[in-house]
Amino acid sequence: MALILAAAPVVEQELKKMQERSQILRQKNIIPHLKVILVGDHAPSVIYTNNKKKFCEKFGALCSIVHLPQDTSASTLTEIITQANHDPTVHGVMVQLPLPAHLANFRPGTLIDPKKDVDGMTPEQHFRLQLKDHHLPDLIPCTPRGIVTLLNYYHLPLSGQNVVIVGRSLIVGRPLANLLTSYDATVTLCHTKTKNLVALTRQADIIVMAIGHANFLTPDYINPQHPPVIIDVGISYIAPHKIAGDTDFTHLLPLVKAISPVPGGVGPMTILSLGQNLLQAAENALKNL
Ligand code: NAP
Repeated sequence: MALILAAAPVVEQELKKMQERSQILRQKNIIPHLKVILVGDHAPSVIYTNNKKKFCEKFGALCSIVHLPQDTSASTLTEIITQANHDPTVHGVMVQLPLPAHLANFRPGTLIDPKKDVDGMTPEQHFRLQLKDHHLPDLIPCTPRGIVTLLNYYHLPLSGQNVVIVGRSLIVGRPLANLLTSYDATVTLCHTKTKNLVALTRQADIIVMAIGHANFLTPDYINPQHPPVIIDVGISYIAPHKIAGDTDFTHLLPLVKAISPVPGGVGPMTILSLGQNLLQAAENALKNL
């Protein structure tokens, strides 16, 4: 039977360290403060934003949510990001994605101060990911960071492993490819134009699914003679309060070495990483006082 890569024990372990770090900052009159800017009422985004706030409170950080109306203009959004950049009591700034359709070309990463970029969206953070070897930059895009933390916790190696990532977004696939390369993995980044995906996944040691198609990865994609580790990033709403990942978890379970569940896998790891980045940003701000 496969190892199930549950986030809960990792979060529990890391949370204790984060509470201690937060306490040290508070003794120096610094309260780690995350500002999340949410535009509109996209239901999953409202849930994710509230989850971030609840998680911040667990380790003694502050999370303020700026909830803007659906028809917010690009100039208003720019102004609010700029204000947060200049506010010394704010250590992390992020814009909850996706933005409404009229802001489809708005790029928060080009506006957020890289020192407060706890979501890892700025060009600076992406560039630094490519420069570093094992000495990672301070703030690392949250989902990629969470995946590495999860694999480390379960003692699953990256060095020399053939990793197939399916999905090449700027928030998951691309930064993850750079991060795993810095851990000496050999990475193949796949997308809709990839030919013969099955041939690639059947040779992989680790498969990361990040496409947003519920139950896409079926046993056909797996070589049972070479059971892979599966990391499922996907989140699809298959009923109003029910989410599914990109993998057919039930049918893959007997065929793989390890698999992350949805819910309870990469999602909580992403929020954990956000908290870790926030603490790092607050500690960095203290050093620069
Ligand atoms: P995205 O921007 O939605 O893009 C999807 C990617 O998947 C694209 O690169 C697309 O290829 C590729 N793709 C789609 N269908 C494919 C197929 N049949 N075969 C191969 N590639 C395919 O990606 P995202 O924002 O990273 O989101 C992906 C999923 O992860 C969503 O379900 C999202 O909700 C979830 N997510 C979860 C977390 C978490 O914390 N758990 C965090 C972020 C995202 P093209 O580039 O060719 O179009």
